[in-house]
Amino acid sequence: MIARLGPCPHCHAALSYLEGVAGSSINPNCPRCKMEVSVERATFLMADHSRPTAKPPVVVKASS
Ligand SMILES: [Zn+2]
Repeated sequence: MIARLGPCPHCHAALSYLEGVAGSSINPNCPRCKMEVSVERATFLMADHSRPTAKPPVVVKASS
């Protein structure tokens, strides 16, 4: 299995491109924007949670 990191060409979300895993496709859908992503080899797209996203972290305020 080959895994590489890259942005979605449509929404630029951080994605993991996993080649040769079950469920791979040569036109997988982005898990975020659901658009097809053209790849040269069968690839499975997964949101990359190892890097921070554009969303700010949720801050939970303790009620006093
Ligand atoms: Zn996308």
